[in-house]
Amino acid sequence: MTTRTAQPRTSVIDRIGARESTGPVFSVEFFPPKDARGEAELWRAIRRLEPLDPAFVSVTYGAGGSSRDRTIRTTARIASDTTLVPMAHLTAVSHSRAELRHVIGSYAAAGISNVLAVRGDPPGDPLGEWTAHPEGLTYADELVRLVRESGSFCVGVAAFPYGHPRSADLDADLARLLVKIRAGADFAISQLFWEPTGFLRLRDRLAAAGCDAPLIPGIMPLLSAKTMAKGPELSGAPLPAGLAERMAPYADDPAGFRAAGLDLTTELCQTLLAEGVRGLHFYTMNRSPATADLVGRLGLGRTAVSA
Ligand code: FAD
Repeated sequence: MTTRTAQPRTSVIDRIGARESTGPVFSVEFFPPKDARGEAELWRAIRRLEPLDPAFVSVTYGAGGSSRDRTIRTTARIASDTTLVPMAHLTAVSHSRAELRHVIGSYAAAGISNVLAVRGDPPGDPLGEWTAHPEGLTYADELVRLVRESGSFCVGVAAFPYGHPRSADLDADLARLLVKIRAGADFAISQLFWEPTGFLRLRDRLAAAGCDAPLIPGIMPLLSAKTMAKGPELSGAPLPAGLAERMAPYADDPAGFRAAGLDLTTELCQTLLAEGVRGLHFYTMNRSPATADLVGRLGLGRTAVSA
């Protein structure tokens, strides 16, 4: 009888840094599926992307712990059933410190050693007034500290190239990001954007502040008019000048929109790679084709090795 032993797990920061000599990496983000159909779709995407060798794969955490068990289960299965390096997101919303410690313990027990520590949004209205749980945490830097205190974790945080919607201005936003990194975060992943200026400005400002933690751009492939309409609302990043005009010819042509959107996303990624980013983090929406296509076009992951 063979006994399954846990795979040695690496940290996200190792995976980003270890491959510096072999070039930039890519990583992917999934959300925990709600039903059997979603689960099947997610696992098709995971199996399709696994051979491309992403540096790590992350699984989001539903607001207020709504996905707690599904996030733990999905990330744990990635840890046990695949060759991938998993990262679980965790939010502070509606949790006491004790509950957060319990979730962090569940992650550790499942072999997950990478956590993206984000505060989360107020339940109901994401732009509404934030109220901390009476025995909980108020801001993400406190969550970074709690995860750090709880074990040997590699910790990431969220970054906002155009500022978090509740930040007074870009200076205040940068200051908060620096606080999170100084609290113990190893790296940051950015909110989505379709024009590189804000991201590159933030990266330069971090460097000027003496911070060498990697800032990984979050890339949402532009695949539909709906995504384009939702983007600014989700991210706080304005729609880039000229984007709507460029995509206007495809208003009634979803296939044409998707093709033009993938070209635009490719150009964005090429600019970022030319600027020396260490990795690209793709928001997959639990589907693989667009990410696999982009990874191939950009010569990342195993496609670079086999090319
Ligand atoms: P914080 O860093 O705490 O910042 C929140 C706001 O408070 C900012 O405006 C900041 O400037 C301000 N602030 C921080 N500290 C202080 C202070 N001491 N005093 C005054 N103001 C302060 N959401 C989910 O629900 N689940 C997920 O899995 C998830 N994953 C994400 C992944 C990425 C890569 C990104 C970019 C976002 C993700 N989010 C997720 C969304 C995130 O939870 C929200 O954007 C949330 O509003 C902010 O989280 P944060 O960690 O940046 O919070």
